[in-house]
Amino acid sequence: MPYQPTLAYAREQDRRDPLRSYRDQFYFPQHRGKDVLYFCGNSLGLQPKSAQAAILHELEHWKAYGVEGHFRGEMPWMDYHKFLMPQTAHVVGAREEEVIVMNTLTTNLHLMMATFYRPDASRYKIIMEAGAFPSDQYAVESQVRWHGYQPEQAIVEVEPRKGEEYLRTEDIIATIEQHGRETALVMFGGVNYFTGQFFDLKAIAEAAHKAGAYAGFDLAHAAGNVLLQLHDWNADFAVWCSYKYLNSGPGGPSGAFVHERHGKNAELPRFAGWWGHDDSERFLMRKGFKPMKGAAGWQLSNAQIFSFAVHKASLDIFHQAGMAALRAKSEKLTGYLEFLLREVNVEGGPLHVITPDDPEARGCQLSIYARRNGKHLYNYLEENGVISDWREDNLHDGTGELGEAGVIRLAPVPLYNSFQDVFEFARLLKEYEN
Ligand SMILES: *Cc1c(COP(=O)(O)O)cnc(C)c1O
Repeated sequence: MPYQPTLAYAREQDRRDPLRSYRDQFYFPQHRGKDVLYFCGNSLGLQPKSAQAAILHELEHWKAYGVEGHFRGEMPWMDYHKFLMPQTAHVVGAREEEVIVMNTLTTNLHLMMATFYRPDASRYKIIMEAGAFPSDQYAVESQVRWHGYQPEQAIVEVEPRKGEEYLRTEDIIATIEQHGRETALVMFGGVNYFTGQFFDLKAIAEAAHKAGAYAGFDLAHAAGNVLLQLHDWNADFAVWCSYKYLNSGPGGPSGAFVHERHGKNAELPRFAGWWGHDDSERFLMRKGFKPMKGAAGWQLSNAQIFSFAVHKASLDIFHQAGMAALRAKSEKLTGYLEFLLREVNVEGGPLHVITPDDPEARGCQLSIYARRNGKHLYNYLEENGVISDWREDNLHDGTGELGEAGVIRLAPVPLYNSFQDVFEFARLLKEYEN
């Protein structure tokens, strides 16, 4: 059935939505006594109602057992990371031993680069997308310098063509081919945080490998958002955070993927810690690091139980709902937002979506470039109970007025957003435009 710009239609879609009950499993911030229209799951996902009990459970465990909590109960802390593996593997399309939850995102990016970026005189370049999330830019830059190279010589950024907003896969591949022989690592985001573009990771990994380089991905905006097949796509490594689409709370733990062909290679150089040591001998406290098989062999420290407990509570919801069902709803929901935006902002209007219109090349986020009055619009939305995200951008196409042009990012997420949320947002926008 084609989309319709009516409340009745939106409600009907919600009624038919097989995932509609999941909304009740989350807390919504309140605005004038009502749930806000929350479209910021790309930045910080909402709190699952099960999170509090999960933390309390571990506090009780500590209270009751002290140090013995490491070994007692159904989920002894010793093995806590293992209890997150099946759900994590499901979310990113991996085998269980290929994933591990540990540390935080940028830390894991560095750990992975310690293994997968070991430049030499002939291969020292890193290819990445232009406009990557700043933390990734800093991480890559500092790695390059750490190895004694200059970012200008070693980092190759793929940019959109003039007048275009996002990257063409053919241009990414051509850049990898062009620099192939000097390239040590191709490091791409999964979904770009700014444009919302979902890159063709399979094609990128293939091209990187053909050139003799490793392929690593930062999936901060992809995990829990789009369907990933890291194992089948042959990614060498990937990292992501848990507080965006994965709803595991501020500063929540990060996940990492290491392909099994590397996970079984104990010879691979890495930065080691005792939690990555073969767990059958970990407490013998002997000299000589012997890594665990799989991604677990990259762990440094014992698990941060309280934040892992929240992450587990949230991952359990994803496992239950299923990524395929979530993605199916997500495509419809974001498609509906796109449809309503077109209705309100007829051709040539002040708003312009810079996210690809091909559903395969995006997740749930749409980034709307406002040529004028952007900040004003954002403030109006906020005053009316919409939580979205504003990024100043005066340079984007050169036409923006200082302080007024920018990008509003909106992410209707399939777990807790409804078609009615999207409709009500569009109604507010329409009132503003008129
Ligand atoms: C959100 C985000 C980060 C944040 O890094 P932390 O180490 O979790 O603070 C890094 N990279 C990308 C691509 C992100 O989207």
